[in-house]
Amino acid sequence: MNPVHMEQLSWVDYERRVQEGAVLFLPCGATEQHGPHLPLGTDALLASAISAEVAARVGGLVAPALSYGYKSQPKCGGGQHFCGTTSLDGATLSALVRDAVREFHRHGVKRLVLVLGHYENTWFVAEGIQLALRELGPDAGLEVMRLEHWDFCREETLEDIFPDGFPGFALEHAAVIETSLMLHFHPHLVALEKIPDDGPADFPPYDMYPTRTEWVPPSGVLSSARGSSAAKGARLAGDIVDGITAAVRFEFKLEGL
Ligand SMILES: [Zn+2]
Repeated sequence: MNPVHMEQLSWVDYERRVQEGAVLFLPCGATEQHGPHLPLGTDALLASAISAEVAARVGGLVAPALSYGYKSQPKCGGGQHFCGTTSLDGATLSALVRDAVREFHRHGVKRLVLVLGHYENTWFVAEGIQLALRELGPDAGLEVMRLEHWDFCREETLEDIFPDGFPGFALEHAAVIETSLMLHFHPHLVALEKIPDDGPADFPPYDMYPTRTEWVPPSGVLSSARGSSAAKGARLAGDIVDGITAAVRFEFKLEGL
């Protein structure tokens, strides 16, 4: 099988793969607390692992992940007050994405997929893509897909995994979905015995600045990760990888791959 990781290829081999039309995947993560049981790099690790599986199926390549993201927000990432959480200003992230997209275009990449593993990145990544495309102009010949990987979890899967009701993706920070996916992709990085009993967090329908840190469970976990398992992770990963693969094949017309 062709290697998928750009940083493991020589420029000569990378150039050949790009000229053959390889779809390039750019995982966009964060360095952010994920409770006492998951590593700070969870978002980039998951986005990278998912990107690698999809790339292997469609003959694609995976660029080195963006490992810093936009500021952690209390209601979906716990907030900026945790040690270890290391975030960018929105304009910095947009500029980073814009520059990366412009470089991939210079290399000859025609089909690019940004795989987001950190919710707070959403609009700043979109901004970076749009700034790059505006600068490159209408004849750039570059098409870009942007997605959040959890949106590919199928409803039946969520119903089976959360028989008492799904708490929603925002509160899923460091909870059952991310913990189960990490147990599937990187089991040696999960400390199951350290899963806290916190949550689910109960937030009002507004935000306050400075952050009311007392709204956020001290562990940083927004709903319980108890019940996480590698088997659930495998099922979620199956949905996500199948779903992204199908979307990439459809939008980029990769029949037969
Ligand atoms: Zn996360």
